[in-house]
Amino acid sequence: MSQKNLICPRCESANAEVLSRSPVEGVWEVYHCPTCFFTWRSTEPAFITDPKQYNPNFKFKPEDMAHFGVMPAIPELKR
Ligand SMILES: [Zn+2]
Repeated sequence: MSQKNLICPRCESANAEVLSRSPVEGVWEVYHCPTCFFTWRSTEPAFITDPKQYNPNFKFKPEDMAHFGVMPAIPELKR
């Protein structure tokens, strides 16, 4: 099985890892990015698996994550 370039397509962190492999070796792999928690399969189209082709509207830098809002928003406590 060839080692893939494990750069996260979404945040482009270089520390993405293999999460799972197909029971029949070499059919598919699932990857996981521990930085932004994106998960993708080797069998998805290039616009998902290739950082250069991933939709730029859905990309972000790891440092942007500190400014993300909480979804869904947590309401104020009722008193
Ligand atoms: Zn990522």
